[in-house]
Order: sequence, then structure tokens, then C-alpha cells
Amino acid sequence: MTTTHSLGFPRIGRQRELKFALERYWKNAITEEALLEVAANLRIQNWQDQAALDWLPTGDFSLYDHVLDTSFMLGNVPERISQSAGKKMDHYFRLARGRSVSDDADCACVSAGELTKWFDTNYHYIVPEFDKNTRFSLNAGQLLQQIREARQQHDRVKPVILGPVTYLWLGKCKDATDKHDLLDDLIHAYEQLFKALKDEGVTWVQIDEPVLVMELNESWKHALRKTYYQLQAAPVKLMLTTYFGQLQENLQLACELPVDGVHLDAVTARDEVAKIIDWLPSHKILSLGVINGRNIWKTDLNAALDWLEPVHARLQERLWLAPSCSLLHVPIDLDSEQALTHDIRSWLAFAVQKLQEVKVLATALDHGREAVSEALQENRAAIESRRQSESVHSAAVNSRLLEINPAMSRRKSSYAQRAAEQRRKIPLPLFPTTSIGSFPQTQTIRQARLDFRKDRLSAEAYRLAMQKEIEHCVREQEALDLDVLVHGEPERNDMVEYFGEQLAGFALTQHGWVQSYGSRCVKPPILYGDVSHTHEITVEWIQYAQSLTGKPVKGMLTGPVTMLNWSFVRDDQPRSETCKQLALAIRDEVLALEKAGIAIIQIDEAALREGLPLRKSQWQTYLDWAILAFGIAANGVEDSTQIHTHMCYSEFNDIMEAIARMDADVITIETSRSAMELLDAFDQYHYPNEIGPGVYDIHSPNIPSMDAIADLMRNAARRIPIHRLWVNPDCGLKTRNWEEVRPALKNMVAASRYLAAHFRTVPAR
Ligand code: GLN
Ligand code: ZN
Repeated sequence: MTTTHSLGFPRIGRQRELKFALERYWKNAITEEALLEVAANLRIQNWQDQAALDWLPTGDFSLYDHVLDTSFMLGNVPERISQSAGKKMDHYFRLARGRSVSDDADCACVSAGELTKWFDTNYHYIVPEFDKNTRFSLNAGQLLQQIREARQQHDRVKPVILGPVTYLWLGKCKDATDKHDLLDDLIHAYEQLFKALKDEGVTWVQIDEPVLVMELNESWKHALRKTYYQLQAAPVKLMLTTYFGQLQENLQLACELPVDGVHLDAVTARDEVAKIIDWLPSHKILSLGVINGRNIWKTDLNAALDWLEPVHARLQERLWLAPSCSLLHVPIDLDSEQALTHDIRSWLAFAVQKLQEVKVLATALDHGREAVSEALQENRAAIESRRQSESVHSAAVNSRLLEINPAMSRRKSSYAQRAAEQRRKIPLPLFPTTSIGSFPQTQTIRQARLDFRKDRLSAEAYRLAMQKEIEHCVREQEALDLDVLVHGEPERNDMVEYFGEQLAGFALTQHGWVQSYGSRCVKPPILYGDVSHTHEITVEWIQYAQSLTGKPVKGMLTGPVTMLNWSFVRDDQPRSETCKQLALAIRDEVLALEKAGIAIIQIDEAALREGLPLRKSQWQTYLDWAILAFGIAANGVEDSTQIHTHMCYSEFNDIMEAIARMDADVITIETSRSAMELLDAFDQYHYPNEIGPGVYDIHSPNIPSMDAIADLMRNAARRIPIHRLWVNPDCGLKTRNWEEVRPALKNMVAASRYLAAHFRTVPAR
């Protein structure tokens, strides 16, 4: 019989129960016990949703992040946290987000761990920290507890563990320590873990080593060999799990490591299936991830069976089937969606449906296709309907694509010339201050949007409500004396979903939430067909904001690459083609804003970096089409229009040249949590345009002091000519409240004025 399993399940709950419980806990509105009860119930629900599988994952659940959980399980908690007051839960949330609960009195000097994207997904994990004092000591109580809970639901329970090598790979050394020196101690902790699991009655353990799809140098390959040779004696069976890409030159290594089974992402690495079957020793299990765990399309089950049947014939009992990766990256249940058109709905599969697909495939392999003929027929009809649908293909979009030429993606003049014109048009002080776009999304704002969506508020009443919010936001910014204002984005639920709602080619879900980090979830729109701009989207809001103030108001758009990377996109054409369509649509909106008299336009490319292929050898190709798309969207404007872009990360040392090619007049970036790591890049590469390194960590409720901000900026001023520096937060402020934002921005403006006075004597270049 073919064994079915899953690599992990979404944690947030169909109604985002985890999010709401966390947020209430942080506000002291519920107790720790109540929070833990919500979590326990979600786990039970998850196991019920997966009950048809042969092996259920456990330990994949997390209150905040599974990498953070691993750090706690391994006793790797930075001293600043472990020495702080309070209980374990306080430490956990301090490391996650800077403070345990909102009135956490013991968090004064405790900074949160760095937040970074999990491989090429939009999930963020808390970066493990290492230094010369790092020692690991096992603390597996929580995992063991979850195993016991799972046992009450199902007798075949498989713990999901982040592998030691990937854990090391994901972490950062805070001093000159070589990560590899920590390996022995780390392996020892895993040995103890496996003993504890064995004592708990566990037989199979899923051990995730997604580093195997990355380009590994000799020392990492050595680390993998050393680890798994040493863990060979473990009293449990290990399923070495890889996902998100092909193994390529690591395929042989993966096959040779002394484990009991290997999982391959057979969606991205379909070509490697034959090879891995050849290489894999005959006593090992091969688990194939045949259902895409990263998108929401139905799998073509008949086509999958065409290639799986011979594989099954050869492997028999040695074949396991699963989704390609954890289902963390897709919404939970399509049954929750009532508003999608019948057609589109029939093309989709969410987590629950994906597991059903796994079951159908396994049944067909074991008992023949006749055993599931109805399911297969239904699947075939859905696949055909999508292939032929008229709502997917537009002749007008196609002919516009043919008109794209490289000149469309370039500005008319050089940055220096543009900057001079822009300064004439809009004079700004030294160290100009601005924000990244959104301001606190208060309950009133969310209620108004909800009422409008539910037809409880007329279009006119909604417009007035939004105008009121915009006015409030403008007045607040004037009072704070910011230099470049924004309208505050009250009308946007989400920077991608909002534009998805307005452009043709997208469908929206009601409950299609996916965890982004901690309690934050996003609802990616579904890009199912050719994309086009059918009406002005932001012009009216921005123009209204501009009409209220003498200060410049910056128009605010989401860029094509981010739209692409944060949507569930079609898989029937290359991503680069879809991105070009998005670029043309955003370009139309940029030009409409310019025509309406808006002189500064920001085009967020928050997700440009995370779209980078995992392997460097494929970067250039991606960057070429991504930068072209940004250019098409942004660069059709006059010299005097200032283009800003924003990116939510600081690691762009290695893509600096591409970022410079985007040729935005101003780029704002995240830097505060990573202590301006980014600025190192400027020691190597001379970034030619203006830059605003983020000085306020908006992911934490902590308020930066004026001195801290001035320090960060002074640090920046050592590398970047001060006439090209801006002062701004790390990212949008929508998740914060006004009580936090006001003092933080006040300090920010004060720091800017202080620096401007201090540096006044430096001559302009
Ligand atoms: N303009 C967006 C905002 O401020 C940018 C958000 C982001 O970069 N993630 O919310
Ligand atoms: Zn951002």
C-alpha cells in the first residue's frame, strides 16, 4: 500500500483563531491557559483535518514560529532574553516581538530577534542567534506534550523537526564564531531528542533539511554527512525532507546519507524523480511531494498518475505520497469560500483539498484508477475548464505585451539631472522625513471597510468615511512636521489584495488567509487570468490628501514584482510573462497619478528579494525580468516626478547592482533590527541615488529614542553622502497604534532636525 502523509499543516485556524487569541493574550485580555487552550484545540482540529492520512504531522504547530520553537527546544535563547524577568512564555514572546504583553515592564532593553523570510516564501522566521557562548541543551517538553495529544487522535504520529544543519544555516553568528564549530554540540542535542522521542513511542521522525536544495559548499556538505552519520544510531527512523527546489548536485549526497527515507519536492523537482529512484538504496523509502504545497490550483491528477504509476510499480511499498512541502503556505479549506465564481472555485484546492488529492492518487495507485473514477473525472473536467476558459485569456492584453520595448523601462535622464529638477519643484530640508505609506488601521477604519463590503455602508458614505481618515492622517503628519506626507492607505486591507481587487485578472477569497509572521496573516489574491488596468485606482484618494495640505503627498502603489510574489499566480504561463502584464497595469496607474499632479510616487517592491531563486545561478535571469517589470511600471514619468520604492529587508548586498538598475530616485529599506547591516553593502558598492534606511522597527511595539535614531543615521552618514539620505520607519505603520506611532515619529523628526542642524555646514554636492 502507498503510504500517505503530510509535512505540516496551517496553524492559524479557519477563522484565524490563533491570531485573535495571541493578540488578546498580548493585550492581557486572556490568560496563558486560555491561549494554550485555543492552540490545543487548533491542533486537534488540524489532526482531524488530516485524519485520513497514514502519518499525521505533529510539532509542526507553533504559537509564533517553528524556528523560534526550535531555538527554545535546543535551549538556544540569547542571554538578553533568558536573563530577563518572567516565565518561559515571556521570554518566548520577547524574542519573537520585543515584548511579552503590551505592558511588559521587563522588556526595556530587550530587542526582538531578527525576522527574515523562510527560503523563497512569504513566511518569516525568527533568526537563531549564535555566539561563542552558545551551548545547546534539550528542552523537548512542549514537543513531547504535542505528541501525546496527537496520539489521542491517531496512532500514527510523526514529529516534524527542523534538521540541525538547516537550523545552523538559518542562524546568524553575533560574533566571529564559526557556525560549524557548534555542530558537535548541536548533534548531541538531537541525539538526546531522538532518545526522548523513542521513549515516547515514536517510530518515524520527519527531519527537514531544505538546505539540500541550496548551493552548498564543501563545509556544509561535510556538516550534512557528519550529522547524519552520527545520528545514524538514533533509535527512530528518519525521513529526510527536502522541499522548495531541486536537489541537483546534492542529489547523490541526499541519497547516500544514512537515513531511512528521503522526501523530494516532486513538483519543482519532477525531473529528478527518475534519478533519485536510481540512486536511492533499495532499503530506503522515497516520499514524493506530488501536490503543490505552494499554490492553490488543483493538481491534474490524471497527468500525475501517468508518471506515478510506473514509479509505483517499481517502488511498491517504498513509495510515500505527500504534498511537496508543509501546507503552511496555503489557505486551509476551500469549503469556506462562498463568493468565488463556480468556474474559478472548481479550479482550486486548499490544504484540506490537497490532502484529498494525495488520497485519491494513493488509492488510484493501490487499487487502480477505477476505484476513484468519479474523482478523476471531476478533476479532468476542472482542469479542462480552466485551460479553455475565456476569462483567462485576453487578446487586448496580449497585443499590448507585444508593444513593450526596453526604452519603456528607462527614465528620460540620469538621476543627477532628475534630482536637480525634483529639488526645484519640491524643495526639501536635509534629512527629509517621510513614512512608508500606511498609518494605524484603527477599528473604525476596519469597520468602515467591512460595512462597505457587506453593503451596510453606501459608496458615498464610505467615501466620506475614508476622506475623514485621510484628513486625520494628514493633520497628524502636519502636526508631527513630516516633510513628505502620505494619505495613510485606510482604504487598503492589504497592499497586494487591494490592487488585486481593482485589476482585471484577479479573484479574491473571503478566508484564504496564510500566515506571514506570528499573528500576521495575508490573504493573497488569486491571479487566474490576463491582468489589466480598467480604471483609476488610487488617484482620487491621493488627490484628496494633496488638496488638504501644502506639503507634498506621495502617491502609493504596489509594484508588479510584489504583486506577483504575494499572489497565488497562474501556473499556465511563465511568471515573467504574468509580471509584464502587471507592470503595464501599474504603469497606467503611475501615469494617471502624475497627470493628476502628484509629484512623488512610491512603488513598493517589498517582495522583490524573496522572489530570488534559491540557487544563485538562476538569480540573474529573475533579476533581469523583475527589474524590467519595475522599470516598465515606474519609469515612464517625467524627470521632475520623484519615484520612490520601498523594500522590506536589508540584505541586498548581493543584489545591489540590480537595485541600482531600478533607478528609483529614492529607496527606503528595512534596517533597524539588523543594526544597519545593509550599510556594509555601501562600503563595497556605491549606490547612486537617494536612500532612506529605516530607523524605527515597526514590527515591535517599542518606541525608538531620538538618540537611537540619530545614531543609526550618523552611522548611515558615514557611508552615504548626507544629501542623499532620508529618514523614515522600516515599513508601513498599519499594524501599530497611534499611541506608539506619534512618539516614535516625533523622535524621528527631532532626530532629523538635529542632524540637519549638525550637518548644515557640509556643502551640497
Ligand atoms: N506602503 C505599504 C505600507 O506602508 C508598504 C508595506 C510593506 O512594505 N510591506 O503599508
Ligand atoms: Zn516594508
